[in-house]
Amino acid sequence: MTFKDLNLTTSLLQALHKKGYLEPTPIQEQCIPHVLEGRDLFGGAQTGTGKTAAFALPLIQIIAAKKSAQTHSSIKALILAPTRELALQINDCIKAYGHGSGIKHTVIFGGVSQFHQVKDLRRGMDILVATPGRLLDLVQQGYIKLNAVEHLVLDEADRMLDMGFIHDIKKIIAKLPAKKQTLFFSATLTPEIKKLSHTLLHDPVLVSVAPVSSSPDLIDQSIYYVKKENKKLLLRHLLKGTDIEHVLVFTRTKHGADKVAKDLNSNGINADAIHGNKSQGAREKAMRGFKNKTIRVLVATDIASRGIDVRELSHVINYEIPEQAETYVHRIGRTGRAGSQGKAFSFCASEERSYMKSISKLINKKINVVEKHPFA
Ligand code: AMP
Repeated sequence: MTFKDLNLTTSLLQALHKKGYLEPTPIQEQCIPHVLEGRDLFGGAQTGTGKTAAFALPLIQIIAAKKSAQTHSSIKALILAPTRELALQINDCIKAYGHGSGIKHTVIFGGVSQFHQVKDLRRGMDILVATPGRLLDLVQQGYIKLNAVEHLVLDEADRMLDMGFIHDIKKIIAKLPAKKQTLFFSATLTPEIKKLSHTLLHDPVLVSVAPVSSSPDLIDQSIYYVKKENKKLLLRHLLKGTDIEHVLVFTRTKHGADKVAKDLNSNGINADAIHGNKSQGAREKAMRGFKNKTIRVLVATDIASRGIDVRELSHVINYEIPEQAETYVHRIGRTGRAGSQGKAFSFCASEERSYMKSISKLINKKINVVEKHPFA
């Protein structure tokens, strides 16, 4: 299937060509036709699947088609995202895809002064990307009107609930017209997500895709059996070589992420941690550093890692083995994208062996064990 088969306009096809996308990802293939038809949709997909384009392309197309007849822009599509990083990424995509469509769009988020955001909003917007708290704040101050919204997108809804945005989301939804198209994306289907999606969606199409994360078969995986207290020594040992250029390290807890990053820094290895307890400014700084390679090691918890969009990550290290085998697949899928073969190392302490067993079972493969290392 090509993007042309999805009935996208020439202007969008050109933008996609410029981005270098050759064909739609599965989530794009499945979502775009339904969104163009105006259906509500539940998308079971996480970051990395191409979900942003799956909702942004058809929304830009619908809004641009109606726009020629209008003069002033009013917010037609509202896109809610949990974090500033994700909101910025979505806005960047809209900018790239909507180039030449005449669509006006912007992004607002908390943690910074509202001055420039308010000034920008005065130009009139067709599409607004927002984090819930700041949006509500500006709506309550009268700077934003939501009465013309025809399309609502909740991106990473599960993460928004995790971050305690449910009340803000409910207040925002109460301010939207009842008749609208709603697109709901979540990587997980918890009871809370089910409940929220039921209240918001009317006769939705259900679309679900596995992460485009490289298939586990394509990733060179190995296990290091190591005592819990020796994990930090093993990590430093592996980082001494030059082989690992740029690595994402996963821990189970926020506290653990901070501890690992601190230990590396005090041993002369540039590292930073990213997790839900960090301020938006701190998370963004860590992401920027990792992207421009001034930070060699980014330590992350699973939830925080979802927003990370870094290409050509050569290595992923499971500093702690996840309890859910699926999480392992998501984690290691962050490496080896774009066809290059990635490597995933798992540090397994004796109390984590049972997790490793269920992982092997899920991926249906025996993972290679590294017998020779100083902390075996
Ligand atoms: P997302 O899940 O929307 O965050 O997208 C994940 C990554 O895939 C982003 O870096 C996108 O730029 C990229 N991407 C999205 N759609 C395609 C496509 N059809 N072909 C290649 N890359 C894509």
